[in-house]
Amino acid sequence: MLCPFCNADQDKVIDSRSSEQGKVIRRRRECLECGRRFTTYERVEETIKLAVVKKDGTRVPYMKQKMLDGLEAACYKRPVSVAQIQEIADEVEEELFRTFEREVDSLEIGRQVAQRLKNVDQVAYVRYASVYKQFRDLEDLLDEVKEVMESNATLDTPDQGKLF
Ligand SMILES: [Zn+2]
Repeated sequence: MLCPFCNADQDKVIDSRSSEQGKVIRRRRECLECGRRFTTYERVEETIKLAVVKKDGTRVPYMKQKMLDGLEAACYKRPVSVAQIQEIADEVEEELFRTFEREVDSLEIGRQVAQRLKNVDQVAYVRYASVYKQFRDLEDLLDEVKEVMESNATLDTPDQGKLF
């Protein structure tokens, strides 16, 4: 630790004690160069805490990897690059932490991912939506596909290939 008085980086710890119920360690140091004393504090870095509320009401800690897993599964054998997947996850994560303070519905995460995926690859989108929306039956799934195909026709985007 650099001495605040003379900038030397040689010191020895002469006292070390914890405070705030052990959340902080306070160290008294003595500079070996100028002999003056100073104090440093050590604490665990504040981590981002966001709980995800699942459909059954249980809460699990937010994990970006889960979002990436879902995206990768949906984009399997589709022309979507790892960089694009990463970008979607980054964007959604940023949005989540900006909008939600303590908890967020897993459905909301799914909705945001799906929204972005729709613009990248429609086949991957339908696959993803079929998981997060948990289509009750084939009809629900077909409705979604129809919707995508209709918006596809309107936008006149190139053929995106067969679904499965
Ligand atoms: Zn010093």
